[in-house]
Amino acid sequence: MNKITDTTIDFVNYKNAILNKMCGYNPERIIKDEYRNHAYEDKLFYEMSAIYRDDQYRESCVIPNLDKEFKELVETFVKTMEANFDKEDLQNMYRNIETLDIKFFNEFKKIFSKDRNNLGTYTSENLIKLKRKVYEDVIFHELLHTASTKVDQEGVYSSGFKRSYNKIMLGKYLNEGYTDLLMKRLFKKYGPYKYEVLIVEALEKIIGKEKMQKLYLNGDSVGLIAELEQYTLINNIVLFDCALSFLQNNDLTQEEIDHLRKQIVIFLLIIFINKNKDKESFLDDYTNYISFLNSLFFTVKNRNGEKNITLMSEQITEDLIDLSELGIKKDLKKTS
Ligand SMILES: [Zn+2]
Repeated sequence: MNKITDTTIDFVNYKNAILNKMCGYNPERIIKDEYRNHAYEDKLFYEMSAIYRDDQYRESCVIPNLDKEFKELVETFVKTMEANFDKEDLQNMYRNIETLDIKFFNEFKKIFSKDRNNLGTYTSENLIKLKRKVYEDVIFHELLHTASTKVDQEGVYSSGFKRSYNKIMLGKYLNEGYTDLLMKRLFKKYGPYKYEVLIVEALEKIIGKEKMQKLYLNGDSVGLIAELEQYTLINNIVLFDCALSFLQNNDLTQEEIDHLRKQIVIFLLIIFINKNKDKESFLDDYTNYISFLNSLFFTVKNRNGEKNITLMSEQITEDLIDLSELGIKKDLKKTS
């Protein structure tokens, strides 16, 4: 069967203007091969930093001498992670925890006013900063960043699915969404990235939980891209990531939001279709995946707990992508 064409996605035509307005993203520049293999400009800075990845394999870690209120939470975190993951996937955690520092910051408003995640942060100095009032809810999110951040021998800074170079950050919201998804799964805590959690959950459903978790903990965004490139072009992967960023822009009209969210769903469907189209059970699987998407997108409240986050104004339907392009006839479904 044919691979579905990529013309179905039109992130580029619609929103180049927003791309530039938002954060200086220039898709023509980003989409080059350097996206996969770029090095951080300031390599020396990261070689000196606490999170520089050495080659030492660790079986465990010593919890540093933190304030009592933090120490118990860090111990809980490490135990929970060890109960859920293999040691080989906890190497970033073991290394970073040993020299981790955690501090309260009372005044966050000015620095993070534009960012929803204004309750805590994890820095490349291997430091967690937390707002006092809510620290017990936020610390696990920041510890997950701690457990998934590294600087490799080439000087590339990676944190979960996030990668930075030339002051351009990629994968930021994919990474925040997955961090909150793991926090929900492992610690029953809920973070602010509700929409992003839905998207990564939908993506994980296609890629597989074990694989996604492994890629995340190892800071392997390159591996995630390689996985996705089997099913679509690198351009679309980067633009999918950009679309998640554009949606942070408060100036978007409802029409623009609907459009971007629709493109994100189409991206997910294309990945799903190209991965599964040759399976005998494809049509049933596809229908189930669409129900799964609908179940996610129509049950979640926004961050004020008031109204539902809707992915689009309408339900996601099986007709969103024309399956006949693939030579799949829908009426075959009933007889199979
Ligand atoms: Zn975060």
